[in-house]
Amino acid sequence: MKISEILSTNGHSVSFEVFPPKRDAPMEPVLDAVKELAGVKPSFISVTYGAGGGANANTVALAEHVQKTCAVPALAHLTCLTSSREKIASEIQALRRAGIENILCLRGDDPDAESNGGKRDFAYAADLVRTLRPSSFCLGGACYPECHPQCAHLEADIAHLKAKVEAGLDFLTTQMFFDNNVYFRYLARLRNAGITIPVIAGIMPVTNGRQISRICKLSGTVLPPRFRAIVDRFGDDPSAMLSAGVTYATEQIIDLFADGVNAVHVYTMNKPEVAKRIMANLKGIVNV
Ligand code: FAD
Repeated sequence: MKISEILSTNGHSVSFEVFPPKRDAPMEPVLDAVKELAGVKPSFISVTYGAGGGANANTVALAEHVQKTCAVPALAHLTCLTSSREKIASEIQALRRAGIENILCLRGDDPDAESNGGKRDFAYAADLVRTLRPSSFCLGGACYPECHPQCAHLEADIAHLKAKVEAGLDFLTTQMFFDNNVYFRYLARLRNAGITIPVIAGIMPVTNGRQISRICKLSGTVLPPRFRAIVDRFGDDPSAMLSAGVTYATEQIIDLFADGVNAVHVYTMNKPEVAKRIMANLKGIVNV
């Protein structure tokens, strides 16, 4: 099923994210985690590509497992910065063969700017969107309510985003944010700029207090004082941080739904326990 169809229905959509195992790591634990995640009936599950140490080679296989074994629509991420046109064409063929209908078109990052001899077939995600748009895939893209860290200011980032959307995107998913006002202000600016496609709100249930400060620094995400106090107080106690992180994320989701947002994407990071607790908290609010 296409994500554009899911988003066009009136109900609330809650989706999850998983990452494939690192190269040479066994696939079974991740397959089991995905099965458990599917058990709480998300609207779709997205599978990252090369992010968080996950190997690209397993993205298609994991997305196929999501769809064929777990009967949940899959969204396969695909990055382009370090790929040639031939590599992208072969990834697309593999996704088609696996029956995947949804692709999150990403630029990705390149720690070694000179890789591939400095030659780029794709400089930005918009170039990937232009390549894929003639196809029937449902295409999503990433967006950054607190500005992409490599862009000088939000206005320029939104202008680039507009070009990416006009290249043929069907929906957007935001970077994580911890203050819903950030999302609402951003959404207003996107609508003012003439970006009208759905913008799925990205929510990160923080379960590791130590990691989050580093991630936020890299991504430019601001930790509001209320949440910083939670991390300061409970960050060193995994069980307390799990409860506090799940509660904070649930409150964010309920507030978003109450204010008319229909779709949230939860960065569940292969943790079914987190997804189960959030969905239990949303019982009666989200129909599964
Ligand atoms: P782009 O949309 O290409 O934007 C990148 C930067 O270039 C921005 O600063 C933008 O303002 C600027 N820009 C765009 N067009 C132009 C132009 N014409 N001229 C000048 N500047 C321009 N990474 C992974 O490796 N794997 C994943 O699976 C993954 N999944 C993600 C999922 C989500 C929802 C999000 C938010 C991010 C994800 N990322 C992933 C991280 C992402 O790859 C990085 O944030 C990357 O730095 C930017 O990717 P993008 O697709 O947003 O790039």
